Amino acid sequence: MKYPKLRELREAIRALIRGPYTSKFPHQPHKPFERFRGRSEFHEKDCVGCSACFNVCPARAIEMSDVGRKRVLTVRWDLCIFCGQCQANCITGKGIMLSNDFELSTTGQRNELRQTIEKEFAVCDSCGDNIVPLDHILWVAKKIGPLCFSNPSLIVFYLRTMDLSAKEKFPPKEEFEFNRPDRIKILCPRCRREAVIKS
Ligand code: SF4
Ligand code: SF4
Repeated sequence: MKYPKLRELREAIRALIRGPYTSKFPHQPHKPFERFRGRSEFHEKDCVGCSACFNVCPARAIEMSDVGRKRVLTVRWDLCIFCGQCQANCITGKGIMLSNDFELSTTGQRNELRQTIEKEFAVCDSCGDNIVPLDHILWVAKKIGPLCFSNPSLIVFYLRTMDLSAKEKFPPKEEFEFNRPDRIKILCPRCRREAVIKS
């Protein structure tokens, strides 16, 4: 006759006292452990649209496109491998975070397994091109504090968010020559270069 091993006997007694290690999911909700890596989610108010997460995602589960005056970011949970690189490299630390949610099965389309957010662009006062998302500029301005006075675009942008500087309309590019005061405007890198050289 074979006797049970002592280790198994000890585990059986422990299970009798503490209850089973496994949970009753799906009959009862399951609470994953604290550092479980589940669905990665954008937190719109903390995301500044910088695109760092898009660039580091090894599974290409984050898509980014600039549509008109908006940057569109989408995270696809059907492609995500829950590696946590997006969260680790997010410049604000909270723009995208892995949640505890692991219930991703669906009977519908794969298109349901995604989250999309949009970020509005700041626009060059001169040529009207998109520069970077507004939230990103504001985040940089706040981060560097008084140092933003060294960059005219940053300081004008910051003043505009507080309604202390009005948006000026430039004449069409072909009829327009940059003057020295035009340096104190929100300009894209190309127009800034032109303004510095020609004014
Ligand atoms: S957890 Fe990894 S795979 Fe998933 S979106 Fe973030 S970086 Fe991409
Ligand atoms: S702020 Fe974070 S979540 Fe938003 S685009 Fe940048 S890295 Fe991604």
